[in-house]
Amino acid sequence: MLSALTFIDPNRMNDHLNVLTGFVSRDPRHPGHAKAVAYIKEQLGALAYYGWNIESQKTSYQGIPLENVFASIEGSTAASSGSATPRLPPSTTSVIVSAHYDSVANRTPGWRPALDPAPGADDNGTGTAALLEFARVISITTREQLRSRIVLAFFDGEELFFKGSGAYVATLTKPYRYKAALNLDMVGFNPIADRLDLLWYTNTSAGLRDRVLAANDRYGIGVAPLNAQFAADGNTIMDAAPFGLAGIPSIAICQRYGENDATFPGNYTFHTVGDTPDKITNKRLWLKAAKLTLATALELARAN
Ligand SMILES: [Zn+2]
Repeated sequence: MLSALTFIDPNRMNDHLNVLTGFVSRDPRHPGHAKAVAYIKEQLGALAYYGWNIESQKTSYQGIPLENVFASIEGSTAASSGSATPRLPPSTTSVIVSAHYDSVANRTPGWRPALDPAPGADDNGTGTAALLEFARVISITTREQLRSRIVLAFFDGEELFFKGSGAYVATLTKPYRYKAALNLDMVGFNPIADRLDLLWYTNTSAGLRDRVLAANDRYGIGVAPLNAQFAADGNTIMDAAPFGLAGIPSIAICQRYGENDATFPGNYTFHTVGDTPDKITNKRLWLKAAKLTLATALELARAN
């Protein structure tokens, strides 16, 4: 069960991260942003053969253009993937897995959004690279077992008060087709523990939270500690929040939410020009976070 997890290739994730940070900045006011959008679309487009549908949504915030990119895949009746197989009717339910690809470095004094670097390696090259790898792994391993559509969402504008994900959620109508929303953000730094925080939103998200906790044990993923936290006061700081607050079961996976403590020393380079690939000091944690997210998403998409 879930042999797909073994196909996640940390070297491919690392390659994606190096390319994404190589665009200098993914702030939507910087020329590197368009290069990042093109790269994400190119990577997903190369998998279109497997049945991915790629869409984009353009929006704006205070005159700054933003672009969300989506890749979705339906289940298939065939036992082998990668061929022209008969399709199931379009799924009535979906599972969405998201990461924001935009970056910012406004904690660096004098930083100019249109000109200066914002490498955003940990925040959130780690999550973005994991999603690109999920697209490849799902393509080659599991789509015949999917009962729900899987949507991979590359959100823009998270660093501008999650305007990308917020704009997307605003387009959704009830009854929501999403049975779960999972978000991955900043998961590769923590040098002292393979610890992740699991944020959940409203009681509607409690079942999803428990499913993630169970998946960590069931598949021997080994995130420890995995701390479930109710996002009460700061519930609007991540891309999981608009989904959760809309009443869709929603969780976010990040290495630490809140203050530093004995299992997290703080990544002081986040939102600075120093959030560079060398700060991804816990690649084992990054891989565990990717496995935990994909395991939960596939379980949900395979369930009735
Ligand atoms: Zn982030």
